[in-house]
Amino acid sequence: MASAARPQLDYLHAALEDLKAKHLYTHLRVLDGEQKPVCMVDGQEVINLASNNYLGLTTHPKMRRAAIEAVRKYGVGSGAVRSIAGTMKIHMELEEQIARFKNTESCVVFQSGFAANAGTVSAVLGKEDLIISDELNHASIIDGCRLSKATIKVFKHKDLNDCERVLKETENWNGKKLLVTDGVFSMDGDIADLPGLCTLAERYNCITMVDDAHSSGVLGRNGRGTVDHQNCHGRVDIQVGTLSKAIGVLGGYVCGSRELIDYLYHRARPFIFSTSHPPSVVASCQAAFELLDSETGAKLVKKLWANTKFFKRKLKKLGFKTGPSETPITPILVGEAAKAFEFGRELFAEGVFAPAIGYPTVAEGKARLRAIVTATHKRADLERALEILERVGKKLAIV
Ligand SMILES: *Cc1c(COP(=O)(O)O)cnc(C)c1O
Repeated sequence: MASAARPQLDYLHAALEDLKAKHLYTHLRVLDGEQKPVCMVDGQEVINLASNNYLGLTTHPKMRRAAIEAVRKYGVGSGAVRSIAGTMKIHMELEEQIARFKNTESCVVFQSGFAANAGTVSAVLGKEDLIISDELNHASIIDGCRLSKATIKVFKHKDLNDCERVLKETENWNGKKLLVTDGVFSMDGDIADLPGLCTLAERYNCITMVDDAHSSGVLGRNGRGTVDHQNCHGRVDIQVGTLSKAIGVLGGYVCGSRELIDYLYHRARPFIFSTSHPPSVVASCQAAFELLDSETGAKLVKKLWANTKFFKRKLKKLGFKTGPSETPITPILVGEAAKAFEFGRELFAEGVFAPAIGYPTVAEGKARLRAIVTATHKRADLERALEILERVGKKLAIV
């Protein structure tokens, strides 16, 4: 092959070797078949504690039917970006449906949650502006902040006093100010103090933005998210969510005032420069919100929480440390990256898939497994996972 002789990318080899030396090199686990609570991964049957498929919607029969029906009716692609010819009637209907669900005036759907965050922050703010951001906010928010070229000030995780310190220091800021937080933090599973942050934002005149990727379908009535869960309706200007986690499909959305959404239609770069969702994705998202807003949805959310409480209570009893988690995201803290990865590998060999997460996704020295319980895990699956966790945890002297 001709590429072998060209040395231009040799530094990548060195970087990969470095990862291997630090035990941070991983290979991609490959699912053989469906994304389910017990599934085939790398040719082995495992209890799956690794997905964000909170409600089991990735394989729900209604969702499959909606997708297939949409392929029959509309084909497989939208053929253009939204702002040219890629807006189909179902794109508009889904946006209206989400806005109603979220109790906001309007909604815009993006290709992913990542695109929603990055595209929105960078459109709404400019280089003369200021962003006040929780230190554990998701990478897509951080990238959006950087793309906006605004000044970024970070406050200590969930620390309202530290947040106020930043706000006081910047009280005379001339440009716009954005206070932004994850609703549920993706690595620790704790919930932002929205009432506290909203009060600060009101006092210091900031735009408010919450990313509910891990709380839509999980918290609030029928999974309406943290704003509903903490009764902050009308106090959050920009509500972001994803269609890729509990909703079970793919995409992201922003909810807010009609003018915010209209502005994003004109200025959010992923909206303008990247092709819209294929009809099957849109139709299955519509089916997901219909499900979520029905009795089935309420039942699924209830089951999710019953499973979560059971699993966490048992884990703690076994002596595992789950940190500040308040949601189905359950970190199992280990500390050292090499040990966390060893724990993950041994568990996998025994039939439990709970991936290890190390730097740079979490801070150095805070490596962990990250287990996510879903509504579709059977009690027997969780009990078996707990047995294996206990056995391997003891063997590696983690408990
Ligand atoms: C997963 C996640 C995203 C990205 O959502 P995708 O739809 O997967 O692109 C954004 N924000 C947070 C907090 C997330 O956890």
